[in-house]
Formats: sequence, C-alpha cells, structure tokens
Amino acid sequence: MTWIEFDKAKVAKVPDGDPIKLGFTELFPRAGHAKPESIELAFNCYILILGSRVVLIDAGIGAEKNRADYPDYHRRPAGFLEKLDNLGISPGNVNYVVCTHLHPDHVGWNTILDEDDWVPTFSNAVYCFPQADFDHLADRYQGGERDRWQMAAFADSILPVRKSGQCILFGLSLDLGGGLMVRQYSGHSPGHSAIFLTMDDCRLVFSGDVFHHPLQLENPDLRPVYDQDPSRAADSRKLLIGELKRRPTVLMPAHFAVTNYGCG
Ligand SMILES: [Zn+2]
Repeated sequence: MTWIEFDKAKVAKVPDGDPIKLGFTELFPRAGHAKPESIELAFNCYILILGSRVVLIDAGIGAEKNRADYPDYHRRPAGFLEKLDNLGISPGNVNYVVCTHLHPDHVGWNTILDEDDWVPTFSNAVYCFPQADFDHLADRYQGGERDRWQMAAFADSILPVRKSGQCILFGLSLDLGGGLMVRQYSGHSPGHSAIFLTMDDCRLVFSGDVFHHPLQLENPDLRPVYDQDPSRAADSRKLLIGELKRRPTVLMPAHFAVTNYGCG
C-alpha cells in the first residue's frame, strides 16, 4: 500500500483481506458470450487525508464477524488495522467513516469486539451512512428478520454505531467541505452513494459498488446479481460514466482487483 499524492490530498487503497475468486456468471448471471471464465473480487477501502482530516471510505468485511450463511465473509482474519497502522493511521485518528452503502462487505470494520460487545472501531469518527439504506434495513430488522448475513451485519456493524451517537444519516447528497461531496447513485442499494473529491487539477471518485468489474465501464447494462434494483443501478452506472467523462478523474472502485482507472 502506498499513498497517491495530489496537491491538497493524498489517498491510499487499503484492501480488506485477499480477493475472492468467483465465476463470471455467478456475479453476472445474464452476461453474454464474450466473458472471462472467472474474476477476482477485491474488498477495497480507501483512506483519504484532506488537510487535517482523515477519512475512511468503506469499511470492508471486518474480522471475526459471524456470517455462517455466507462462507466468504465468515470470521475473516484481522489485519486491516495493521495496514492502517503501516500507513501511520491509528483508529483514533480517523475523523470520518463514509460508507457508500450498508451491505456487509462495506461496514465490517465499523465495529470491533470489546469483551462481548461490538463497539465503534473509530472512537473519534463521525460515521456517515445513507439514510435510505439504514431505513430499509431497519424496517427489515424491526420486522423480525434475523440471522441472514445482511441482518447480522446490521446488528453487529451498523446498529452499535447508531446507538453510540457517532452516526449521521444522509440523503441525496452530503457536503463534507474542502471539495469532498457525497452524491447518491442508487440502485445497487436504496441509498448507494459515490464520493467525489474535486481538486483544481484532478478529481477522485470513490464509486463503491456502482461498478464491480471494469467491463461495466464499457457495458453498463452488465448487471451484477447483487444489484437490488437492477434497472435503477444500470441507470446510475450510465449517469456516473457520463459524469466521469466530463473532466479528468481517477476512479477508486470498491471491488476491482487490479487497479484504479483514470478517465477523461
Ligand atoms: Zn460490495
């Protein structure tokens, strides 16, 4: 892991654990003929230093979380905080944690175990969650859904942060100042959002799960099985691709295993 430095910011990609390998049609069941046999899915978080502020974007799968019904996410090893430490970041230094959405592979490190309780990992941070995702999950949870990986993540990685008072819920957009702006690109989840950092000479876009694979930049109708509203998610991909072309941008996706992509 290394820092990529810009005029007024620096950013480092921090993968949570190793990528997982899966069949291309497992992720994209309706893919056409021209497709690779298998792909790797990484779980990338990003640490951004902007002036005096430290921002973590997405929080991976986490360690020791019970996801027995989803083996790839079940009781993953620790190591993420050591990676942050190698970058000179301790949990208490993080000022903001922004989750692009609240699926289990983006909220895991929100909390760690303290004795038997899940508590916020980043004790001084403001956590920013999409309101529409939170409300959707809260409705399901209050309706009695339990034990599935998404509900387990809500219980151990989202609710403890909400209860701590460290969390704010945002709607269509959230201005974090200094050129850092969160904007909703929904469909993958009800409130899925991307984070834009606009600088004089360049722009960074942390796109979360708007894209799962580089092929979607060429074919935004390539729909992953995890999109909750596939049609709206495809519209969001097209909208974001159009936006990326408007000015020089470095794309910081959550799941690309290979690299980040400059556009424009
Ligand atoms: Zn994801």
